[in-house]
Amino acid sequence: MVAAAAATVGSAVAARDLALQWVEHTILQALERAARDGRFGLHYQPTYDLATRLPVGAEALMRLPGAGGVRLDPEDVIAIAERSGWIQPLGRRLLERSFREWTGRGGTLSINVSRSELHRPGYALELLIARPAAISLELEITETSAAPLAGVARANLEQLRRHGVTIALDDVGEGHNHLRLAAEFPCDRLKISRRLVSRIGRGRTGEALVRTILGLAGARGLPVTAEGIESEGQALWLRAHGCTTGQGYLFARPAPLAQLPLAA
Ligand code: C2E
Ligand code: CA
Repeated sequence: MVAAAAATVGSAVAARDLALQWVEHTILQALERAARDGRFGLHYQPTYDLATRLPVGAEALMRLPGAGGVRLDPEDVIAIAERSGWIQPLGRRLLERSFREWTGRGGTLSINVSRSELHRPGYALELLIARPAAISLELEITETSAAPLAGVARANLEQLRRHGVTIALDDVGEGHNHLRLAAEFPCDRLKISRRLVSRIGRGRTGEALVRTILGLAGARGLPVTAEGIESEGQALWLRAHGCTTGQGYLFARPAPLAQLPLAA
């Protein structure tokens, strides 16, 4: 009986491992196509001023199609791209494409930066050379990408900020050190995580955490953007508590630039 149960568990684990290997293989193939030939999609999710409800910019989000047009999860894609090294050529292509597409538009373009990009010597310089002067650019950096902020990563960030690129600390509300980072990380904006925003209206603990982050930002004089706003109640609560801008399905889902309600 025990042996039979162990065999069943064993084969379930083997099947799961096989499925994971297949997903990784599929993603690696898609990454190679994307990095070599630029075959990837680029969606943008607008950010809105919570008082006027007008768009003030947009965040570029990569979309990688798998075989047969299957949609691959961007978080898995980025994790595997980091591990395999494809993130470097892919990140470059993504920057070039988004700069090209955003040129001529008002508002701020936001780009997510991965850990290995931030820690690569010369990353800041390359980006500054590629950036068209007229584009207002913000880089989004998560705790995992940033910490510990030292050496090359710190030098890259300082160089970028000296040249007018602003830095947003992404996904605040996640990670072990998020409150310390929200209080100390050298940046120009905090972005409250989608998971935390989803707790607004669902009890005092989540709301107290959001208030703490807004309080820290207020003390530092930093603006805050809330991610993943899905309801009018969340938008009103956030605005009433000092959050100035937000993104989320309430306003707009990520989509190709041409399909978005943004001023050209
Ligand atoms: P993120 O930076 O936290 O991006 C926000 C994610 O929340 C996006 O998922 C977006 O589609 C999703 N989202 C926005 N509003 C809502 C909402 O109201 N409800 C729900 N349920 N979801 C919402 P996505 O596009 O799947 O991206 C996942 C993550 O992958 C991103 O998280 C980012 O960390 C990473 N990523 C995406 N594109 C890039 C990229 O070009 N470079 C790097 N380094 N990372 C990227
Ligand atoms: Ca982001």
